[in-house]
Amino acid sequence: MEFHRNLNDNTWHCCINCSRWPANSYNILRAEKLPDPLKLCDLCKTLQDSGQCVRFPDRAIGSKASSSLRIAVITTAILAGVIAAAVLLSKNFDTR
Ligand SMILES: [Zn+2]
Repeated sequence: MEFHRNLNDNTWHCCINCSRWPANSYNILRAEKLPDPLKLCDLCKTLQDSGQCVRFPDRAIGSKASSSLRIAVITTAILAGVIAAAVLLSKNFDTR
């Protein structure tokens, strides 16, 4: 399962329905259980104990990563096109 921790907070969260679930900048830890010295959020603990904890969906990370990878590939392709066009322009300029 996945644990999220706010960058300026030492408490780890495992339930996305936790009111303190980090939304913007956070660290991610993937483990079966939270390692011992790390502190789990009290609210997340309560949600887990009552069976109301909604865990971070693992598959969503994969599809998110692949879509951002696709964007990176497209950007590279555009950049390569721009460079090719610039080379063509400078060649035309040289002959004049
Ligand atoms: Zn929490």
